Amino acid sequence: MRYIDEFRSPGLLRGQLEMIEEMGSNISIMEVCGTHTMAISRSGLRPLLAPRVELVSGPGCPVCVTAADDIARAIAFAGLEGVVLTTFGDMMRVPGPRGTLSEANSRGASVRVVYSPLEALRMAAESAHTRVVFLGVGFETTAPAVAASLVQARRKGIDNFFVLSLHKLVPPALRALLEMEGFSIDAFLLPGHVSAVLGSQAYSFLSEDYGIPSVIAGFEASDILRSIYVLMRMREEGAAVEIEYSRAVRPEGNRKAREVMESVFEPVDAEWRGLGTIPASGLALRDEFRDHDAGAWEVELPATARDTGCRCGDILCGRIKPMQCPLFARSCTPENAVGPCMVSTEGTCASYYLYDYREGERLDG
Ligand code: SF4
Repeated sequence: MRYIDEFRSPGLLRGQLEMIEEMGSNISIMEVCGTHTMAISRSGLRPLLAPRVELVSGPGCPVCVTAADDIARAIAFAGLEGVVLTTFGDMMRVPGPRGTLSEANSRGASVRVVYSPLEALRMAAESAHTRVVFLGVGFETTAPAVAASLVQARRKGIDNFFVLSLHKLVPPALRALLEMEGFSIDAFLLPGHVSAVLGSQAYSFLSEDYGIPSVIAGFEASDILRSIYVLMRMREEGAAVEIEYSRAVRPEGNRKAREVMESVFEPVDAEWRGLGTIPASGLALRDEFRDHDAGAWEVELPATARDTGCRCGDILCGRIKPMQCPLFARSCTPENAVGPCMVSTEGTCASYYLYDYREGERLDG
């Protein structure tokens, strides 16, 4: 525990807050990672740093950026004869145009929660007459493990294992945000886990093409405060991409993880909730793995999504804060979520609801 305690020392945190306070200018920073959003809310940093530092949450929750149509597609797969859809627990309650996977399950569809793609692969190996589909949701952090499960399926001849790949890539989303009209963030707090795979070099375009300072941060409050100070300093001295989370991230990233990911997947255009279609921002199975690609299956989808009034799309682009959604803490709560940002344990609305919002406080809607 000693190692952790050093990061949480009150003296260290006080000193870091003072250093930020002494910086002359204000700054708005987007944290591009749901785990950072949770860590910032849980440690109470937003009110402590305001108004000098405005922290804006970005599209860093993989569940939240999944398009409503993709959830509808997953539900349609789960209803197919002889198919079991496997997924991480967070996806079960995300509302799509025809309800949630959990509701589909109670109506007779076959959906099972798994903790890893390897567990889904094992299910396929043990039930040769069932087609087991793994719902591949996540960023560069989860895609290598899914790729490894496909390599294993191929090696062991498990031909009833399939992946519906909805994976997303972080750098193209950052570029899309920066190109978006009205987007005005001064700096990025970059994700720790994704960057452990990608490395820092993958983000060099942020400073080179856009002059935006960026720091790859760890998840302790002191990591985040140190990164904010570095970002403020960079604004004065010149933009760069720095690694604060050096205990997990190298400039070159994790080559092995990237190699397995690139051997199985190739970049394709992908639909993001709130950001629309972003070129080369998703991962599809390469031709060699076509036999395991559930994405090639044809299913009937509902014509249009019904309008629930959810503003997750605006939240994910940093246009509004959760409390500005008229449904926040009224009809939308973690127990009764209207949108994915309130469902996921990494969702922006869920983290604001749990840590930043006090019952009875005035909401901006
Ligand atoms: S509060 Fe609920 S309805 Fe509003 S944006 Fe967040 S998840 Fe969507």
